[in-house]
Amino acid sequence: MAAMTREETEALIQEVLEVYPEKAKLDRAKHLAVNDQSLEKANKCITSNRKSLPGVMTIRGCAYAGSKGVVWGPIKDMIHISHGPVGCGQYSRAGRRNYYVGTTGINTFGTMNFTSDFQEKDIVFGGDKKLAKLIDEIEVLFPLNKGISIQSECPIGLIGDDIEAVAKVKKKEHGKTIVPVRCEGFRGVSQSLGHHIANDAIRDWVLENRDGDDSFPTTPYDVAVIGDYNIGGDAWSSRTLLEEMGLRVVAQWSGDGTIAEIEKTPKVKLNLIHCYRSMNYIARHMEEKYSIPWIEYNFFGPTKIAESLRRIASHFDETIQAGAERVIERYKIEYEAVIAKYKPRLQGKRVMLYVGGLRPRHVIGAYEDLGMEVVGTGYEFAHNDDYDRTIKEMGNATLLYDDVTGYEFEEFVKKVQPDLVGSGIKEKYIFQKMGVPFRQMHSWDYSGPYHGYDGFAIFAKDMDMTINNPCWKNFKAPWKTEAASDAVKAVA
Ligand code: SF4
Repeated sequence: MAAMTREETEALIQEVLEVYPEKAKLDRAKHLAVNDQSLEKANKCITSNRKSLPGVMTIRGCAYAGSKGVVWGPIKDMIHISHGPVGCGQYSRAGRRNYYVGTTGINTFGTMNFTSDFQEKDIVFGGDKKLAKLIDEIEVLFPLNKGISIQSECPIGLIGDDIEAVAKVKKKEHGKTIVPVRCEGFRGVSQSLGHHIANDAIRDWVLENRDGDDSFPTTPYDVAVIGDYNIGGDAWSSRTLLEEMGLRVVAQWSGDGTIAEIEKTPKVKLNLIHCYRSMNYIARHMEEKYSIPWIEYNFFGPTKIAESLRRIASHFDETIQAGAERVIERYKIEYEAVIAKYKPRLQGKRVMLYVGGLRPRHVIGAYEDLGMEVVGTGYEFAHNDDYDRTIKEMGNATLLYDDVTGYEFEEFVKKVQPDLVGSGIKEKYIFQKMGVPFRQMHSWDYSGPYHGYDGFAIFAKDMDMTINNPCWKNFKAPWKTEAASDAVKAVA
């Protein structure tokens, strides 16, 4: 299908809105837009970070998911208690594939589920005593944990438990960092507020732990990687490049990260942010309090990687700048071979995305490196500053959809007919059953890493494997194909 004009994209949005009642139509119209690269500010064309409409099928998550699932969960040597009924923790356990090194249950706990397993009596009489008992049990069973976070599920805020008081008492008793996090699922409009609350809890309960302690030997090249959750090993394939150019990565927030790394972060010279949405709060705080500058970077695809390495290097001296050039040169043969192999198979293919955090804009360059085009994109929980960054990355007259509903997404895909959809697990089987090639772009569909040069090779292979899979040609029932005989058609 040829690229759509501005008028055609506008008409498509109007057509899709048509089914809604008047009030819903007015509301949803603000969240659907035709991209205009000439705009400086996205609020001129799209509204974001608003409450989802009751009755529409939103694809968003909750504040607890943003805190426990994204920010805190990957800190591997702490135990994160899902405080409340068993389901929230169990159904989100290990789903994001945050890889880590360590012995699970001994000194790392990333894939385990710890819960206070609330029952009716806890809702009626309060769960503080149960929480205190659980922390004591954890200390007996898993004494090598380096700290505990209490991730509040919805009921905790509703019944008014004082988890801060429990955390303070137990911190004193056990001599460990114990962090209460008020990330009850009902807070805010999406998982986004959970990220913010999680950042604030780190600021208030962890980050100051080494203030005034200069015993950690620093270097002029110390950096922290912020907002890389090591999905399928992403942070590892990123860290390699930073270290090869001569930087020292002191901390990974938070994939494969430890509480000690977080405590040392205020000592670094530069904070490097990959997922801006989920971690910009803490970077801004460190800038204000510790005067640590921060920059965003993008390690998807060779074009953006080279741009980012050079931008990062520009904050350091010639040694690091030469190091960045050396790294780009060193991997050139490898990434050019990847492009030479896959670009002819993927050239001209069109992609529609709907993800969270950074990916709806960050992966555009990687697709373009392979000759592909992203023709529609949107975020589950973006704010206006995310769309500000997106309008320049997307082509003119492409589709933007914020907090897209299940219905809108399906209709857009039916009309635009992309060669690939990249979204989450809830969308995967719907589109696959519609015969549309699909990649799960939250957890890389059991693959990865996708960051860095190593990740790009896997990304390219996965996209090719999905789009050019022979299964799509066999999607039509045999009796519905041209070749089927009239007799077979008649029987069918
Ligand atoms: S909304 Fe509440 S009950 Fe649902 S998963 Fe989130 S914390 Fe749990």
